[in-house]
Amino acid sequence: MSFHYIIVGAGSAGCVLANRLSANPATRVCLVEAGAPDRNPMIHMPFGLAALAHMRWLNWGHETEPQAQLNHRRLFWPRGRVLGGSSSINAMIYMRGHPQDYRDWARLAGPDWDWPRVRAIFRDHEDNRVLQDDHHGRGGPLTVSALAHPNPLSRAFVRAGVDCRLAENPDFNGASQEGVGLYQVTQRGGRRLSSAQAFLVPVLDRPNLTLVTRAQVHRVILQGRRATGVQLRDRTLPLADGGEVILCGGAINSPQLLMLSGIGPGAHLQRMGLPVLHDAPEVGANLADHLDITVQAALKGREAIGIAPGFLPRALRATWAYLRRGQGEFTSNVAEAGGFARSDPARDRPNLQFHFIPAYLHDHGRRLSLGYGVTLHVCDLLPKSRGRISLVSPDPMARPRIDANYLGDPRDLPTLLSGLKLARRILHAPALARHVRTETLPGAGVQTDAELQADIRARAETIYHPVGTCRMGLDAASVTDPQGRVRGVQGLRVADAALMPQIIAGNTSAPTMMIAETIARRILGQPSAA
Ligand SMILES: Cc1cc2nc3c(=O)[nH]c(=O)nc-3n(C[C@H](O)[C@H](O)[C@H](O)COP(=O)(O)OP(=O)(O)OC[C@H]3O[C@@H](n4cnc5c(N)ncnc54)[C@H](O)[C@@H]3O)c2cc1C
Repeated sequence: MSFHYIIVGAGSAGCVLANRLSANPATRVCLVEAGAPDRNPMIHMPFGLAALAHMRWLNWGHETEPQAQLNHRRLFWPRGRVLGGSSSINAMIYMRGHPQDYRDWARLAGPDWDWPRVRAIFRDHEDNRVLQDDHHGRGGPLTVSALAHPNPLSRAFVRAGVDCRLAENPDFNGASQEGVGLYQVTQRGGRRLSSAQAFLVPVLDRPNLTLVTRAQVHRVILQGRRATGVQLRDRTLPLADGGEVILCGGAINSPQLLMLSGIGPGAHLQRMGLPVLHDAPEVGANLADHLDITVQAALKGREAIGIAPGFLPRALRATWAYLRRGQGEFTSNVAEAGGFARSDPARDRPNLQFHFIPAYLHDHGRRLSLGYGVTLHVCDLLPKSRGRISLVSPDPMARPRIDANYLGDPRDLPTLLSGLKLARRILHAPALARHVRTETLPGAGVQTDAELQADIRARAETIYHPVGTCRMGLDAASVTDPQGRVRGVQGLRVADAALMPQIIAGNTSAPTMMIAETIARRILGQPSAA
């Protein structure tokens, strides 16, 4: 059987496209996912997120190259390898980004991406169970909820932010992004609502929609300059005449697939022994991510979620409350609260974001920590540094080379430094200080700017938002045009986080779903927004 659309990757983006393109029963759509179906209960119980870091079979578990500015450390980059992609392993925070982000996108990639149009799509997708004003949508497939059971320490964090003169903000997707508050989450009835659960599962009974899981696409098949199908390990999936392959493999795998298919920087492909079907120097370039640093404290009391005496009965109560009513501590998305601030008041939008965790968190949750503590993350939202994805081998099963080039631009370190100082002030502001026994990270011995900078180099990690590696743009050098069509070839698009022409000031899942929706409307010849 041939397909009108073959979508590669069932993550935040791919599930939206599968839903929208298969709405017409005459259109045959195939969604191909490398990972397994999302049956693991830890995916659906929000606090299961803490256990997911250990489940290597659900995760691509990428690693960066040694980062020159981070003491030559390799950083761990989790990405979902399961139905729902990273939306099945992420922290569920619902965030759109700043209106100014999309004004920049409109300048770089045209009017489809301007704030009024993307805002309309965010609203169309949304079913906000709490906020019912002009900023929010009702009745869409993506349920957005308040946390069912926020930890008291998360509220203490918000009060501590207010102690530091940050505004309390009940809605980061409303009138203003700035300030501190509890996050809204993509959950329904206390369960994770991944892109797969929101957009794909409800339409899986459509006879014209084929889902293939545990199938990694090795390359796009091109005849001349036209895509005609995709190559799996043991078979091909052909396109119908005039059909399209749409890459939704995410910011790491989509550029990797383009290069494996002969589309990318010519000299690099030649070095890999691959044919150069289309020399596209920017494939894999423009990689941007949010670099993050934490402050951490041990607590006097036991309000935090911690592995300590008394943990077992508490965990059993939480499991029971979750299973019976979708309530209780295990509905926590771990990163319960946070907010946005500016490192410099002259900036046109916040460039720092906080994620507050009422627990110890080390090494992305891969290392268990005993006792009761809190972790406050701060990241640089608008870094200047850009990295690159490239190949190490023509073997499709080999991991790509990820060079994030963190802090490669000297303007980035001062921003993170000011974020770290502000996070520390919040940790020691009265509302949190009354809970804190001692600061464990960076620790009392780290005080001067030089010491704090060294601490950043020694400990900074990703907060999981790589984007931009198949940049769309109005300019001829961009990898795709503003509708995600790969320049220089026909029948091939990219429609995921790789497309972002510039990293946004916020979390990236809902914006990636918005990208997929915008591209779907373009493919279907519908106006880009209602
Ligand atoms: C731990 C973590 C926490 C995060 N927390 C948040 C958060 O709270 N809020 C938020 O907004 N964002 C968050 N993010 C970021 C957000 O989830 C991602 O930006 C977003 O999901 C990216 O969507 P995507 O469709 O581009 O890629 P993905 O969702 O990663 O989907 C790509 C899919 O393609 C599949 N695939 C890749 N290559 C192939 C191939 N060759 N063949 C077949 N299938 C393939 C993958 O297995 C995957 O399922 C987090 C991310 C992580 C990892």
